[in-house]
Amino acid sequence: MKGIVYKSTGSWYTVKSQNGEFYECRIKGKFRIQGIKSTNPVAVGDHVVFEVETKGDETIGIINKIEERENYIIRKSVNLSKQTHIIAANVDVAFLLVTLNNPPTFTTFIDRFLVTAEAYHINAVLLFNKIDTYNEEELLEIKYLAAMYREIGYECIGISAVTGKNVEKVKALMEGKVSMFSGHSGVGKSTLVNAIEPTLQLKTSKISSQHMQGQHTTTFAEMFDLSFNARIIDTPGIKGFGIVEVNKEELGNYFPEFFALKEHCKFNNCLHREEPQCAVKEALENDEIAWSRYKSYLQIMEGEEEHYRQTQHGN
Ligand code: GDP
Ligand code: ZN
Repeated sequence: MKGIVYKSTGSWYTVKSQNGEFYECRIKGKFRIQGIKSTNPVAVGDHVVFEVETKGDETIGIINKIEERENYIIRKSVNLSKQTHIIAANVDVAFLLVTLNNPPTFTTFIDRFLVTAEAYHINAVLLFNKIDTYNEEELLEIKYLAAMYREIGYECIGISAVTGKNVEKVKALMEGKVSMFSGHSGVGKSTLVNAIEPTLQLKTSKISSQHMQGQHTTTFAEMFDLSFNARIIDTPGIKGFGIVEVNKEELGNYFPEFFALKEHCKFNNCLHREEPQCAVKEALENDEIAWSRYKSYLQIMEGEEEHYRQTQHGN
């Protein structure tokens, strides 16, 4: 039988079969997925093949194959083993909720999220929430930000999870897909999910609002079916949606507007910093690239360089 993993506890996997039934499954023997060494071979969102075994009055499934993943989100484990944990697989859309204040969401945070989404090959959508609370000046700022991100290819929607403004548009983007919601604590994730599906209570926000992020809570991602042919992955205890390590040569590829200009830089390995005849810096000076994006680029690169130095010095 074929199915999709909805929940995992480390040793048991809840799989929904194509005919809509749930099975508690285990993994057959030890099998490794090519290319990734992770603490969990099977993750929420994985498409799997399994067999059903009945022993007495107990029916269990045995997973014996994992279909190739479209993408997957990982997290480095917090302990010293430095093992990778796959949080979720086959995510279609990653929504980031953004608010100007209460709490503020800075562009560097948005850009990090977008880089991560690009690196994972996941569609990213920005939701500017709480638009019912902004004054004219703040609305202009939202408009400016949305126009800037739209121009480089990201869908942006101004919404209000409280009044319901544009929530239908969000639902339309979710239809037929697997979605994830991210954003700082207090941006309105649980309010939005509640507006989308009143009967569903995600754990994500409860945990982050209790400041449990830093603690070593063992929590697992879980997928839920919504009433309108959409699925959502809840990732309690996981801040943001994982961090990919990007090397500095690659980083520019995850800024689509930089990537589009790369071939016009004099050096094909241009990092768009001190190099002469850099098309990205020229575009920046002509206001064709946003300064905030370039600033984020430099910050992320410095962060990567710092990380590299640390890992080179005896871990
Ligand atoms: P989470 O931590 O991201 O899940 O945020 P919550 O959903 O708990 O929302 C935090 C606070 O912001 C709550 O008091 C919500 O009522 C409020 N809130 C969320 N969305 C909106 C919105 O669109 N407009 C207004 N005015 N308040 C909102
Ligand atoms: Zn360049």
